[in-house]
Amino acid sequence: MTQPVRRIIHIDMDAFYASVEQRDNPALRGRPVAVGRSQERGVVAAASYEARPFGVRSAMPSLLAQRRCPQLVFVPPRFEVYRAVSAQIHAIFARYTPLIQPLSLDEAYLDITQPLIRRASATAIAQEIRAAILAETGLTASAGISYNKFLAKLASDHNKPNGQFVIPPGAGQDFVAPLPVSAFHGIGPATARRMNALGIQTGADLRAFPPETLRQHFGKAAAFYHGIAHGEDTRPVEPDRPRKSLGKETTFDQDLIHDHDLNEALQILAEKVWAGCEKRGLSGRTITLKLRHADFSQLTRSLSRQTPVRDQAELLQAGLHLLRPLLPLQKSVRLLGITVSSLCDPQAASGAEQLSLLPSA
Ligand SMILES: [Mg+2]
Repeated sequence: MTQPVRRIIHIDMDAFYASVEQRDNPALRGRPVAVGRSQERGVVAAASYEARPFGVRSAMPSLLAQRRCPQLVFVPPRFEVYRAVSAQIHAIFARYTPLIQPLSLDEAYLDITQPLIRRASATAIAQEIRAAILAETGLTASAGISYNKFLAKLASDHNKPNGQFVIPPGAGQDFVAPLPVSAFHGIGPATARRMNALGIQTGADLRAFPPETLRQHFGKAAAFYHGIAHGEDTRPVEPDRPRKSLGKETTFDQDLIHDHDLNEALQILAEKVWAGCEKRGLSGRTITLKLRHADFSQLTRSLSRQTPVRDQAELLQAGLHLLRPLLPLQKSVRLLGITVSSLCDPQAASGAEQLSLLPSA
């Protein structure tokens, strides 16, 4: 082997936003809490463990969450506090390794193959990190320890909350075999559905599937899927680069020609992009729409606002505003994308919220 077996820890804070709110407000402890706005278009950003038995989940519309759990307490998000805690846990990670790759404010991969502080095992390091997080922030975290990123992330879910789990070298393939492919990080809901339609339900099914057929269906991504089914993942831990934009685009299975289909597609994209903004505690002032026709001609339209978008509805509104002049469609569309840039603190946005309560001139 040309390189030593990697040792990767995935750290994931437990019900992060909700736990921070319960930490800072004792009246919320022991109660079902949803961080998010309760209004019509609101979405649950995080649910406390007390809310989960009711079927309340993050990314769920607030109205549905309220229906499932009438005593649910909604708390507006305080991203500046979450970012401060995120910086605290990042500082703890940095005592052990410079190779830290955050996935969001509350999750990160750490490569501790050559740790800055030697300990008997990766397990011992994960335990120390979790103990330090609890001592310094008052919050619990879970950890997954393994020989690659894919397995470490799966493992951190295994003994959640406030637990950790190791998948040792050689054990990855057996660990993933019984799990549904929809549980795999890197396989999104749409891909999972396509796999299910091909008869691939579990890791074992994915492993047994002919690699060549897999490639025909999923192109370049097939190599990654084939690897993870064998418990293999060669991606290195890549330390964070500051983000300049957050966006998503989608290539349609069939080109779209009807305006209403495009509106609908934009709605789905806006939802995903906003979820990404919330996860990272970011928003932005510039919204860009990208549209590629079936003949590969492409156009982009953008607008810049005075203040960052505040919520999913505002993002969608901006996207629709950019799309409207392009309708009715002249040519069918194969790709649609929406991006938020000029990123900044969404706190600037809550200032704008105050202003918008004033009667407009
Ligand atoms: Mg978490």
